[in-house]
Amino acid sequence: MTDLFDLEHIWHPYTSMLNPLPTFKVKRAYGATIELEDGRTLVDGMSSWWCAIHGYNHPELNQAVTDQLQNMAHIMFGGLTHEPAIELGKLLLKITPPSLDKIFYADSGSVAVEVALKMAVQYWAALNQPAKTNFITTRSGYHGDTWNAMSVCDPVTGMHQIFGASLPNRIFVPAPQSRFDGQWNPQDIQELTQQIEQHHHSIAALIIEPIVQGAGGMRFYHPEYLRQAKDLCEQYNLLLIFDEIATGFGRTGKMFAWEHAQVEPDIMCIGKGLTGGYMTLSATLTTKQVAETISRGEAGVFMHGPTFMANPLACAVALRSTQLLVEQDWQTNIQRIEKILTQQLTDLAQLDHVADVRILGAIGVVELTTNVDMKTLQQQFVERGIWVRPFGKLVYVMPPYVITDDELHYLLAQMSEVVKNMQGANANVLA
Ligand code: PMP
Repeated sequence: MTDLFDLEHIWHPYTSMLNPLPTFKVKRAYGATIELEDGRTLVDGMSSWWCAIHGYNHPELNQAVTDQLQNMAHIMFGGLTHEPAIELGKLLLKITPPSLDKIFYADSGSVAVEVALKMAVQYWAALNQPAKTNFITTRSGYHGDTWNAMSVCDPVTGMHQIFGASLPNRIFVPAPQSRFDGQWNPQDIQELTQQIEQHHHSIAALIIEPIVQGAGGMRFYHPEYLRQAKDLCEQYNLLLIFDEIATGFGRTGKMFAWEHAQVEPDIMCIGKGLTGGYMTLSATLTTKQVAETISRGEAGVFMHGPTFMANPLACAVALRSTQLLVEQDWQTNIQRIEKILTQQLTDLAQLDHVADVRILGAIGVVELTTNVDMKTLQQQFVERGIWVRPFGKLVYVMPPYVITDDELHYLLAQMSEVVKNMQGANANVLA
């Protein structure tokens, strides 16, 4: 089943080359279906890590790529520009927070975060506050795998131990505890308040995933946290960076998660669903004020410019993907998915080995009491015809929005069976 060349020579994400986890070879994918080389088909619960929002092999997205190919696949962005970047920009400004006005296109989510952090540092340097270079963030966050993005990921579940002193020291406060759908506990904001009061002279920005902390624990927290965090940033002169790379493009039931709190950031990162999962593209958006301040600084320019910046193929497919989303009644569709997730997953919370079940928009999370054995569980999911990739204590789904009711019922029924059967057998503590 596993390809031998792949096993021996190709490094997969977060994988050992001595004891690699098995991989399943995919022949093609369409809609919410993944077809394996051996002919088996799987209902996709992952949207390829949040990005394939319209499913796979979408005729209109294919067409957008094909059309753009007739003109050019790529052209440098220094000194040149093109229609896909411009039209995409116009649409993005319509659907993102009104205060955001300038768009920097980058290659991946992690790079968008690097760009955001660099913007914040250049902003304060331009205002003659060169000491404001550090960042504050919450625990259980995830912002990417590049150097500075990694430095603001959760220091325990992230990679801080391995990289040790090579990572810059950031200021961490506890993750918000008040649940999205629960009561606001004012104590939640105390540590952030204290740390900002104490360190604001050295802090450029607060960076946070609004409402949903994704890869750092799939936690949904109370919107009041963002409102109070914004007040603190204003009071103590910190920029506020929202990482909407995972939460964007409808996933949480709003187009972007800031809308749950009606709090606008100074800088916002988007990626993943931006191209409907067709290829890598991200963007960092900011306000006129931040952009103009940076431009008035000593450097006079913003110091970033990747080779594949605003790649035309990626911008063309991102434009079509975003148009497809806004042209549809996407909110009703997400509510449809949310309703089925709620109907089918809620009862799992009664199992002894299930610590929590939570659902928001098109995200369904079952948190277990112990870490899962990913290899065993993944095998069982594939045998049952579904694609779900758990991590830590979390078995979760975030299906493509095109998933049909029948496909979603099947996905969740099979997933639930595996979770129910786990008691004892697979509830294996790894760490
Ligand atoms: N920020 C968040 C919130 C993410 O979920 C991710 C990806 N999981 C990233 C940043 C990094 O994006 P990429 O993998 O495209 O570099």
